[in-house]
Amino acid sequence: MKILVLNSGSSSIKFKLFDNEVVKASGLIEKIGENGSRVELKNTLTGEEFEKKVDIKNHEEGLKITNELFKESGILTDLSELDGCGHRIVHGGKELSEHCLIDDKVLEQIDKVSIFAPLHNPANLAGIKTMIKAAPNVKNVAVFDTAFHSQMPEFASMYALPYEYYEKYNIKKYGFHGTSHAYVSKKAASFLNKDYNSFNAISAHLGNGASVCAIENGKSVDTSMGFTPLEGLIMGTRCGDIDAAILPFIAQTQNLSMQEIDTLVNKKSGVYGICGFNDFRDIENQIEKGDKRAELALNMFCYRLIKYIGSYLAILPRTDALIFTGGIGENGNLVRKLVCEKLSHLGFELDEKLNDERSKKERDISKNSSKIKILVIPTDEELEITKITQKLITK
Ligand code: ADP
Repeated sequence: MKILVLNSGSSSIKFKLFDNEVVKASGLIEKIGENGSRVELKNTLTGEEFEKKVDIKNHEEGLKITNELFKESGILTDLSELDGCGHRIVHGGKELSEHCLIDDKVLEQIDKVSIFAPLHNPANLAGIKTMIKAAPNVKNVAVFDTAFHSQMPEFASMYALPYEYYEKYNIKKYGFHGTSHAYVSKKAASFLNKDYNSFNAISAHLGNGASVCAIENGKSVDTSMGFTPLEGLIMGTRCGDIDAAILPFIAQTQNLSMQEIDTLVNKKSGVYGICGFNDFRDIENQIEKGDKRAELALNMFCYRLIKYIGSYLAILPRTDALIFTGGIGENGNLVRKLVCEKLSHLGFELDEKLNDERSKKERDISKNSSKIKILVIPTDEELEITKITQKLITK
């Protein structure tokens, strides 16, 4: 089955083409509506690369040029040849709690919850509409970052604000990175030969954005991100949990608008706000040079993560595995070591040698005696989207 996966942003579209769950091609349409727009395409089987540098005014033009590149490279004769197209959608809101085939009603709903994800949902929507125009015969599937968390119990997902804010505006914890948490936890269960329906795990997706998820019997029961992807862990440039009263205080003392405050907490905070670097490779280099702020940022990041893992150990009746994924989770042996050392009294025993080995494969980095397994599972959100798309179009 040929499935195209689209991850549409406001000025770019990342895409991957799968044939029976094997990646055939990957690419990027970038700088849409800006100077220097281009499409790049890579045949992942032969390694051949193709590129077109042309003026791309909108998403529609971008996909048209991609289709031309597909034809010229011989990878696909036409987009209409696809069996389906899976779209990554950041926010499904309260109504769209499950991945689904896209029809007019679903388009309307995605548009309606754009207010919750103003940077992402309108762009995701543009990607879907473009695909519908380019290949009207192809079925489109919406895969929501929020869907995996939609069955969280009410007492975990509600905020203690006046209840009418939930009734009027659906303000509650939605959680994100759901496709990744679902993918790595399923992989972890099969890696450990356990039945997913009775598998309990704590999954830590640590990239530029970072979140932790508590999984009980194969379902998300709590997660650190909230109404937006700002809550929870300290991230590259996002502050994560803070006392909400700090925001009006800063607004007043610095004379900042709510928009400026939003930028401050999302783009100028996190480990970047503490030490001026958001990439953990730079932070580690800085620490080696004796940079105390970089050391503080790393310690703050790990401390917050340890606290979340501890709280999820408390809410789960039993924990089978701790899973690390995302750029930092998969590659950052120092973060994994600092976190697991502090958790050793709770049943985690890290094998330092295995932790230091570099690999792109899923692996167990705990000692045989570790009560709770510590796993590194490389995430693959596109593959998960492909699997969901295949399932929904053949239903
Ligand atoms: P995104 O959230 O944008 O998808 P990724 O999951 O790709 O990001 O993670 C990117 C981050 O992974 C980088 O900013 C960097 O902090 C971290 N990272 C990548 N490689 C390493 C490494 N070898 N050691 C430590 N951190 C790394």
